[in-house]
Amino acid sequence: MPLNLEEIMAIVETSSIRFVRFLYCDISGVIRGKVASVHALSSRTASGIGLVKGAMSVNILDQLQLDTGYGATGEVRLAPDLSTFRILPYVGESAAYICNLQELDHSAWCLCPRSVLAEQISKASRLGIKIEAAFEPEFTLAKGECDSFTPIDQSLCFSTGGMNQAADFINSFAAALERQGLEVEQYYPELGHGQHELTIKHAPAAAAADNQIWYRETLRGVSGNAGIKASLAPKPLADQAGNGCHLHLSAWDIRSGQNLFYSRSGLSPFAHHFIAGLLAHLPALTALTCASVNSYRRLKPRSWSSAYCCWGLENREAAIRVPSTYSGYEEATTNLEIKCVDSSCNPYLALAGIIAAGLAGVEEKLSPGDPVEGDPDTMTAQELCDRGVKRLPSTLQEALDALKADRLIANVLGEQLTKTYTIVKESECAAFAAHDVEFELKHHRDKF
Ligand code: GLU
Ligand code: MG
Repeated sequence: MPLNLEEIMAIVETSSIRFVRFLYCDISGVIRGKVASVHALSSRTASGIGLVKGAMSVNILDQLQLDTGYGATGEVRLAPDLSTFRILPYVGESAAYICNLQELDHSAWCLCPRSVLAEQISKASRLGIKIEAAFEPEFTLAKGECDSFTPIDQSLCFSTGGMNQAADFINSFAAALERQGLEVEQYYPELGHGQHELTIKHAPAAAAADNQIWYRETLRGVSGNAGIKASLAPKPLADQAGNGCHLHLSAWDIRSGQNLFYSRSGLSPFAHHFIAGLLAHLPALTALTCASVNSYRRLKPRSWSSAYCCWGLENREAAIRVPSTYSGYEEATTNLEIKCVDSSCNPYLALAGIIAAGLAGVEEKLSPGDPVEGDPDTMTAQELCDRGVKRLPSTLQEALDALKADRLIANVLGEQLTKTYTIVKESECAAFAAHDVEFELKHHRDKF
């Protein structure tokens, strides 16, 4: 990947690039941007592109929330991270950067999600820890004119029939990801009609969050070219399995290069503390990881999406699943899977909160208790109470209330971002409460 402006300008010239997108992911989780013509690229790369501060006060219906204090006045810069430069394989003569949001003096703007994540990565690094992560999105492929959304297949989970029906699209999608440097690992048709899952290799936390942006953009771009619809919405169809975006995570000792979650006898004490930190803050984190009204239509018991705040070994109903390791690769494959995550999240904020919560558990040497065996939804109220297992928030509003009450997570975001985030998200709760289910499904399918 290019490192400096000269290298980028040389690539732009030899590849006949006409436009370069300056991308950011907003508070509602939508990916937006502005576009520089190649003639202005050199100066805009150096100075950034202007963006009204109110751009981070809009919800997913583009309704501006003036209570945030950010409206028509004030300006920040979309400041590109040069290392993110990519030629877009799904649209002609175009490339893109992922940007930070900076004040005019180039300092990080308090509402910049990418900077919030960078701060947590630096904090981990000061402790000698490097976080590796991979978002693992599921998505639904469909066809239909205008608002109609008919899955392209009714195939069974893991079925070869499903593979064959989606093969042309999956091949183009994988090729486009790989041309942008994302390494495809695994693919299979999922449970829902038209539902598929294609995973990419883990990366250091900052790159993992950026990869989620490239993944979402590429899925939508390639599907559009193929004349089909693709949606990563948590629940694009009310009667079909939801689309999760499980987050896989591991922590590495920077000096020794060892996986801190691993010990010869299994999961390390460090990993246990990390899990306990996650569990302690999971209700608040859910506001960041399951960030849309539609998220809570997915986050239901008995759907393998997790609905209870607990951890378990290979337990797909637990919010934190410890996957079994692969023999011969025990240390390399020791990781945690956080299941209460979906692609409507802003990946920078979700990952920042998760890192902070895990590290707090390590710092405080918290214990997660015993892992839960079996489906917590089958336990009696007394058993759940005895085990200290609570239901995760069942609406976005409940999650936002938990966020407001959680000092650690609110501090990770900072005062202004916590306020803006909750106002924007509460406006989405109100907006969708005023309409029917179909309205909610359509709007989430369209944006994610
Ligand atoms: N579709 C499930 C979810 O919403 C996940 C199924 C699985 O991959 O275990 O999270
Ligand atoms: Mg899956």
